[in-house]
Amino acid sequence: MKLLTATNLTQGYRDNDFDFCVEGELVHLDPPCAKDRDDPDGPCGCGRSFGGLNSHLATTTVVIRDVAGFTAEDYVEAIRSSLDQQGYDSSQAVHEAATLYCLAQYWSAGTVLERRLDQIAARAVIGQPQ
Ligand SMILES: [Zn+2]
Repeated sequence: MKLLTATNLTQGYRDNDFDFCVEGELVHLDPPCAKDRDDPDGPCGCGRSFGGLNSHLATTTVVIRDVAGFTAEDYVEAIRSSLDQQGYDSSQAVHEAATLYCLAQYWSAGTVLERRLDQIAARAVIGQPQ
């Protein structure tokens, strides 16, 4: 199953890139805060970043990884437990998993993606990462 995962590949392509996540961890999308709501290059960074489900940190770059044996139920559980750990409402985890699943299927494995508020775009295709 194809998944959105944190990567440091293509970091530096934009001069406001950052990656505090663990390489390969699953990510999700948080709505931007008030500071960045109208500007992906805003001072906070959340309008251009993805949130790591394990580290609870953020990255501006993710790569599509095709992970054998990973199921839709695993995706829901990963999101639910991450939200629970952070003290957030996890009641919408199944919907969030469905959104991420649909996003990931749109690109081939090895595609590096970036976020510009509500837009997710491909930066590069590097082949299936390790
Ligand atoms: Zn923010």
